[in-house]
Amino acid sequence: MAKTVPDCLRCSDTRIFISVRPRERYAHARLCDCVSSPCKTCKGTGFLVEQDSFQRDVAITCPDCEQIKKRVQLYNSARIPRRYLNSRLNSQDRDSGNEMVFDLLESIFRLLPQRLSNKNNLQNDTEDLKGMVLMGPPGTGKTHLMTGFVYQCTIGHGISCIFQSFAELLSELRQGYSDGKSDMEIIEPHLQTDILIIDDMGKGRNSDWELGILDMLISERYNRNQIIMVTTNFTESEENTLKEQIRSRDKTETEQFIADTIHRRVGERIYSRLKEMCYFENLMGQDRRITEDELDEE
Ligand SMILES: [Zn+2]
Ligand SMILES: [Zn+2]
Repeated sequence: MAKTVPDCLRCSDTRIFISVRPRERYAHARLCDCVSSPCKTCKGTGFLVEQDSFQRDVAITCPDCEQIKKRVQLYNSARIPRRYLNSRLNSQDRDSGNEMVFDLLESIFRLLPQRLSNKNNLQNDTEDLKGMVLMGPPGTGKTHLMTGFVYQCTIGHGISCIFQSFAELLSELRQGYSDGKSDMEIIEPHLQTDILIIDDMGKGRNSDWELGILDMLISERYNRNQIIMVTTNFTESEENTLKEQIRSRDKTETEQFIADTIHRRVGERIYSRLKEMCYFENLMGQDRRITEDELDEE
């Protein structure tokens, strides 16, 4: 399929322009200059009148202005770190090493709106809908994929997300504790989003309190049938998990490494909860190269 050149090169006709502003930590979305004001579709009212199946007039939100403004807001609340401003989930990034991951991410776009609109409906056709724990060594593009996923969720599908590094999340939870909030008040903001994405889970040494409050957050999202996505350098196998050097005080000692699995890193409770809520997928840079070599030989 030939790709036509977009009319607006600044936003590729999404009508939303993503940039970074000085001294800001997160990438910023705004309406692109190509969007006419007032809106031609709704003449600036923000609404269109359509007829429902009973031929009654109903007002719907104008897709050309109000819906776009809402999506701009969703992107800006998702908190994409500025270095990932160009992350998209483009089909060009799809290859034999990550197509399973792409398929699972795309199934969320298909199934989640259905689940969100059927909140009170007991008939649930979205049982396959789960989050994902994306595992693999540093540098395999896990964060790039996830921030691209957040772009598609917010801008493409109007799904709300919070993207947070594990360290940032824990520090926010700790802050809530020092502000004297109750456990439930501490985790509440992270229950208000459709998808919570935790980047770099397992990094650093964490206290029992931190893992306890994180367990509570994850369990609460589980009870509410809410999605969690995770990236981590720690895998399920000692063979390919991140190996960390133990610093010895005595320089004469030989170098020692530990190979913690994700299970060991976050503890039994969090691990088993994630097992119920998420597909566990490996993104192995090296494996991917081998597969490509094999394909070349054919
Ligand atoms: Zn534009
Ligand atoms: Zn409009």
